[in-house]
Amino acid sequence: MTNAPFALDRREFIALAGGLAAVLVVGDGAYFSSRRSAAHAQPVPSESGTLTQPETPLNGTIASPNTETAAAATTSPETESAAATNTEMPPTTLEDLPWNLRLVNRDHPLAADFAPSNLAELPDASWVEPHVNHRVDARIVEDLTAMLTAAEAAGTHPIICSSFRTYDYQENLFENRIERAEREEHLEGTEAEEAAAFWVAPPGASEHQTGLAVDIVDADYLELDEGQESTATQQWLMAHCTEYGFILRYPTDKSATTGIGYEPWHYRYVGKEAASDIAESGLCLEEWLVETYHVQA
Ligand SMILES: [Zn+2]
Repeated sequence: MTNAPFALDRREFIALAGGLAAVLVVGDGAYFSSRRSAAHAQPVPSESGTLTQPETPLNGTIASPNTETAAAATTSPETESAAATNTEMPPTTLEDLPWNLRLVNRDHPLAADFAPSNLAELPDASWVEPHVNHRVDARIVEDLTAMLTAAEAAGTHPIICSSFRTYDYQENLFENRIERAEREEHLEGTEAEEAAAFWVAPPGASEHQTGLAVDIVDADYLELDEGQESTATQQWLMAHCTEYGFILRYPTDKSATTGIGYEPWHYRYVGKEAASDIAESGLCLEEWLVETYHVQA
């Protein structure tokens, strides 16, 4: 009989310890679950039907297939299968890609009411025109600022002349360009629209609506034409933009694929790893996404 109280205490202890273990397991699972969803956070439709950006900042890097292959080659089959159960499948559709690799073009336009939820105004700087409110996706401000600071330190004079644009603003630009095609090239209807679209993206098809693109010109040459390419600013940016996560989005030899004429001033943020991969590959974003992720671009 003297053992009975002890036995009860022991059962109570076991029950208590078991409960704690269960809490720890649940807590751990929840932790990984939230980490996994953050790592693959995607813009999700809100109730109003607009797309909202994930709130969790991502580092914008994705292991390249080459890295994965190299890693797989050095692991045993056991390790591989164990790793496979813990590794998310790579993105296979454009919608699965992380925010920094979002593809926007005429085939993949944004909704008229889409606007990034995290727009940030660029702070005053020598590369921001006075009294102009330039906004970009908040997640690219740091790299953009670092790039332009370095460009200036190298003796160049960059000026941001365009950043985030609304759908309506893009519509105005496009209509103005159509009128110009009608007036100067004597084109009409669809022909005028097609000619305009080569130089100004139709509303919804502009990367500027994502807040991930900026047009940068040389302070000594403000024209948006091929002459921009020869300026000291563009020479520096073209050589160094990938170090800061940007690519020259519409290269001269890729117009047939991008559908946009050569724009040696339009820089698109894709993240540092993707930017250097794309530069090394010699592909434009559409081609690189297809080759790297086997997505339909
Ligand atoms: Zn642009």
